[in-house]
Amino acid sequence: MKHTDIQDLLSLSGKVAIITGGASGIGLGTAKKLALAGASVVILDINDALGNLEAEAIRQDGGKAHFCHCDVRSAENCRSAVDETFEMFGRIDILFNNAGIAIRKNALELEPDEWDLALDVSLKGQYLMTKYAVPHMIKSGGGSIINTGSGWSLRGGENAVAYCAMKGGTLNMTRAMAIDFGKYNIRVNTICPGDIDTPMLRSECEQLGGDYDEEYIKSCYKSRPIQRIGTPDDVANAVLFLAGSMSEWISGSYLVVDGGGIAG
Ligand code: NAP
Repeated sequence: MKHTDIQDLLSLSGKVAIITGGASGIGLGTAKKLALAGASVVILDINDALGNLEAEAIRQDGGKAHFCHCDVRSAENCRSAVDETFEMFGRIDILFNNAGIAIRKNALELEPDEWDLALDVSLKGQYLMTKYAVPHMIKSGGGSIINTGSGWSLRGGENAVAYCAMKGGTLNMTRAMAIDFGKYNIRVNTICPGDIDTPMLRSECEQLGGDYDEEYIKSCYKSRPIQRIGTPDDVANAVLFLAGSMSEWISGSYLVVDGGGIAG
């Protein structure tokens, strides 16, 4: 195999990728990475100011990017974001269902409306985006859907009842989708990050009454074999693998990106 063949395997040239929650953290890191690999990326988020700014930054760097406002809890928003993507780029190949929020409360503290919010953003949002994107993937002969789970898709965690429910749900919903859409050459996988240095991790620290300082960050990785906190780029590299042709026989699976944390 030649060097250029390896580059072809990694290339997303001609592909169109939708990234929910793409204005910040893991979603933003992944939007930049997929654009670098040649994909046209459509950033969906509720943060319009940041989303527009980051899409422009990708364009300035020579990538193809577009921002579209989308609250993934809304069926109408999801449907129109998919329509806008199709009108703009003519196809949809990759869907990174990444938007999420973390409410660090146990079942006694959590209010019913907070439960609804958490599950609507993560779980319902992933279902809605999939519902509207899949018909386009079928038309173009296939696609790759990557749902963001967590280490807490596989294990429970403290003061995170809704988060654990939705991330556990993501994992099995992924399997159901992989079974339903395999016949259309659509692959569906879950990515399970460990602690990643993003605004969400800072928010979790603050919700738990801590300061997001060196000591806190160290506590996030002290039990991980690879002794550092994760970065959005760590997850973006794994999403690139699942999005492209190197993983073409991988579906209904999950990929843990956590410095080995789940191993112990
Ligand atoms: P982040 O930096 O907070 O980014 C999440 C983005 O999603 C934000 O721009 C946020 O906007 C947006 N968003 C929130 N609600 C939305 C909605 N209803 N519709 C559309 N967009 C919405 O978080 P992150 O750390 O990158 O997390 C991304 C994903 O990774 C989440 O699913 C999270 O659960 C998962 N994850 C993160 C970690 C970690 O340690 N960071 C670990 C495991 C899994 P606002 O900022 O305006 O709310």
